[in-house]
Amino acid sequence: MKNKKTYLAEVYLNGQWMPPQEATVSVFDRGFMFGDGIYEVTPFYHGKPFRLQDHLDRLKYCLEQIKIPFDISILEPLMLEAISRSRLATSDAAVYIQISRGAAPRNHYFPDNPKPNFLMYAFPVELENFSGKRWKVMVSEDFRWQRCDIKSTALLANTMMKDDAISDGYNENLLVRDGYFTEGSHSTAFFVSKGIVFTHPEGPHILSGITRKVVLEICRDLGIGYKEEALALERISEVEEVFLTGTTTQITVVSSLHLKGKEIFTSQKGQITARLQEEFLKRTRG
Ligand code: PMP
Repeated sequence: MKNKKTYLAEVYLNGQWMPPQEATVSVFDRGFMFGDGIYEVTPFYHGKPFRLQDHLDRLKYCLEQIKIPFDISILEPLMLEAISRSRLATSDAAVYIQISRGAAPRNHYFPDNPKPNFLMYAFPVELENFSGKRWKVMVSEDFRWQRCDIKSTALLANTMMKDDAISDGYNENLLVRDGYFTEGSHSTAFFVSKGIVFTHPEGPHILSGITRKVVLEICRDLGIGYKEEALALERISEVEEVFLTGTTTQITVVSSLHLKGKEIFTSQKGQITARLQEEFLKRTRG
């Protein structure tokens, strides 16, 4: 089902809290014109941030990569305020942060003294019950750019891919570049083959997921073998379990994969995914 979410009561824009209908930026905002900005989504489990420092570190990395000057030290107290103002301290929620380069005469090159536009808001999100989900996932070509490590608001390719999936009755789109699985349109992909967990190495072809990092830590702590190695599409027949991870996806089981309408993988919930989910629950709710 599309367009099921409602708008929020309040957002924070450039230093002020206001109703979203009053929050406006220039039509010359480079985020609007070029997708020249970055964003971050941080989960709050019953009011408590999870891996906040990792999310702030990634935001800082992305700002540096695209050379937007911004002092991130203001963020943490504002994020906590967003949660309390939105009355989300006793339920599950996330804080969305977006920083664009701001308004400037329309030129491709960056302006000399940018005035970034900073938007933030808290929103309710379902972080429970992921263990019971089974996602039917389509597989398609990864036609994104070569800097997927930057969490850019320029998400046209990702939105096209997700829309293809939803329009055809799938839950997510799993992407393949040069014959190797990279990640989902908004999630990290994991594969279990012969008891070993595989996921694409960090680098320009994937977003360095915070949930990915947590899952690999859990593997280490539980003594589950893992390899940060891309899996070839042609080796899907050797895979026993597939799951996707992300801040809002959590750890979701993939029950089937479909390439051009043909089923290429099917599985019920696997043992390793179940162990990871159980431990993930402990760490996020502990
Ligand atoms: N890859 C992409 C393309 C994403 O959009 C996301 C969701 N932010 C992820 C991976 C997962 O990252 P995280 O675990 O930090 O949410």
